[in-house]
Amino acid sequence: MKNKKQLELYIHIPFCARKCEYCDFLSFVTPMSVQRAYAEKLTEEIIAESTGVKDYQVSTIFIGGGTPSVLPSDCMEQIMAAVWQHYDVKEDAEITIEANPGTLTEEKLKIYRMAGINRISLGLQSADDWELRLLGRIHTYDDFLKSFQRVRLAGFDNVNVDLMSALPGQTMESWEKTMKKVLMLRPEHISAYSLIVEPGTPFYDKYGCLGEAYPPLPDEDTEREMYYMTEQILLDHGYERYEISNYSRPGKECRHNIGYWTGVDYLGLGLGASSYVSGYRFRKECDLSVYLDIHTGKEFPGNLYRDINFLTTKEKMEEFMFLGLRMTKGVSGSSFAEKFGHNMWNIYGKQIEKLEKEGLLEVRKPEIKLTSKGIDLSNYALSQFI
Ligand code: SF4
Repeated sequence: MKNKKQLELYIHIPFCARKCEYCDFLSFVTPMSVQRAYAEKLTEEIIAESTGVKDYQVSTIFIGGGTPSVLPSDCMEQIMAAVWQHYDVKEDAEITIEANPGTLTEEKLKIYRMAGINRISLGLQSADDWELRLLGRIHTYDDFLKSFQRVRLAGFDNVNVDLMSALPGQTMESWEKTMKKVLMLRPEHISAYSLIVEPGTPFYDKYGCLGEAYPPLPDEDTEREMYYMTEQILLDHGYERYEISNYSRPGKECRHNIGYWTGVDYLGLGLGASSYVSGYRFRKECDLSVYLDIHTGKEFPGNLYRDINFLTTKEKMEEFMFLGLRMTKGVSGSSFAEKFGHNMWNIYGKQIEKLEKEGLLEVRKPEIKLTSKGIDLSNYALSQFI
């Protein structure tokens, strides 16, 4: 049998128990009946999409949201059964589900295991109950602890915990406590982001250009200090930073994300999900009622597609650079040449030289990677390639 191309699946579950104050993700609070109707439509989409990717083998699956763990477990069972039945999934595929404390039961975890899910990503954000309340999270730190224990008891040995710094009212001490409490649990992976106040969220009204609510956000210097402390503490505890905001114990990097940063094709399934397949970038319908009403006749799933673009070679090269450089190991001129048939220095020599002079890029031909200063100023450094 000829070698199949590699494909990643992303499955979007756009439901949450409550909307957090800072959240601009495509997610809603809906009755169970809507969630069930969505699961039905999504299953049909999964089956219909499979015919277009028969030449691919699925190496990773990421079930994200929203909060996929709010979905009734029989719906998740049905969705995963459709995937296993209609796609060629690699035996050792990494299969992640995002879950929030307060929404995970033993029964759900048992069903996830039976459905082949082997990695859990838990959204904690903070171990301080006051900070959690301000964020509008539905859970306490104690709820998280119970969920974490349940996850381990259910046999999951690959767990990510999401954390967030620069929160309203957060101090260096409380951020340090959050990290140390979580590190005692030894999760395999930690994603640590700084809060970004996004337009259109309740936080934007409070903390955006107009508002200065109480408690205030940490000032810029404190935010930077938190950022440096994050790296220091995680490295001291044996974690490796393999991407700007992602740390793992050795060998436990998130394969799905690495695929995304290295240009592996991915198929997005469900509301608003983005895809990049065979050079085409597109997304699925973003309006939930339109999605649910879409006709599943002959034109399905094409009638779900929106914003279809065929990427030019230049755009693909740009993505290779700015996504690849997010990873601490950087990008290699040999892979660039293999992929595009061009010398990386002929195309990006000027940018590389400039960033090297500014101390943002380390060059060891044929490889280049961001320096610590470059990671600090990654927005600026990566934008040079666009
Ligand atoms: S749980 Fe996550 S997706 Fe849901 S509202 Fe909160 S931040 Fe948004």
